[in-house]
Amino acid sequence: MTSASGGSSAPGRLRPLAAFTVDVEDWYQSCVDFDAPISERVVRNVDRILAVLDDFGVKGTFFVQGRVAESFPKLVRSLVEEGHEIQAHGYSHRPLYAMNRQELREELKRSHDTVEDAAAVPITAFRAQDFSITSDTLWALDVLAEVGFTVDSSIFPMRTRRYGIRGWPLGPHYVDAANGARLLEVPVAVWAHGRWRLPVGGGGYFRIAPAKFLERALSSVARHRPAVVYCHPYEFNATELQEYGDRIPAKLRLSQGLGRRSFVERVRHLLGVLEFGRFDWLLGEWGYA
Ligand SMILES: [Zn+2]
Repeated sequence: MTSASGGSSAPGRLRPLAAFTVDVEDWYQSCVDFDAPISERVVRNVDRILAVLDDFGVKGTFFVQGRVAESFPKLVRSLVEEGHEIQAHGYSHRPLYAMNRQELREELKRSHDTVEDAAAVPITAFRAQDFSITSDTLWALDVLAEVGFTVDSSIFPMRTRRYGIRGWPLGPHYVDAANGARLLEVPVAVWAHGRWRLPVGGGGYFRIAPAKFLERALSSVARHRPAVVYCHPYEFNATELQEYGDRIPAKLRLSQGLGRRSFVERVRHLLGVLEFGRFDWLLGEWGYA
């Protein structure tokens, strides 16, 4: 067993049933205006997450957007010092599928290097902004391997309105990249029942489904394969959207605000009934380290 600050397995705890992961970004920049500055809201919202995780003694994995790491390197370093895992969540938050190979290479390299500079630990895993690796752009996995990533959590294993690949495997599996490297592909949690697939690991469904149902679905996923849950700092702030007023369309405010008031309560419920840990610990427990 190793210490909480840098180990590859969970110290002194039972097997984590699920990985608690966070895509660290600033809502207005990542969802409304890619050219906007990164605001300090992201730091305050990460503090809200840490307050919840600390109540349950849980360590998680923070996939940090490169521009956030550049703007707030101390935030990244303090997460490392508190025993959380740091990985990469793109640089600009522009969708990857809109980039050509050269642009994608620059985006992924900057994503890797900015977060590694701030964290001062090796960065090996990637999650695409908005799961923006699709069936048309699977060659992006080759570029991820070229840049040096060995683990990817970017492909949503069902088709939704905005992203995902229909029929993609629900559990971790290796993908051979063009340069001969192997990339471990780790989808976020999707519950499968017969022909049904439900996105219980995060996003809109996670914000509106009853907490008891999420508990049952995630427990079921975790018995069959590594279960990965994902969320965002702004989801821990029920009133942030009101701060923007007329700068955002009412429709967006409504759709993004759905379920936000009860979000923290539902996370607290899940942290109380399931066991959560870091993404790397979970993969280690399942023999993927
Ligand atoms: Zn994101």
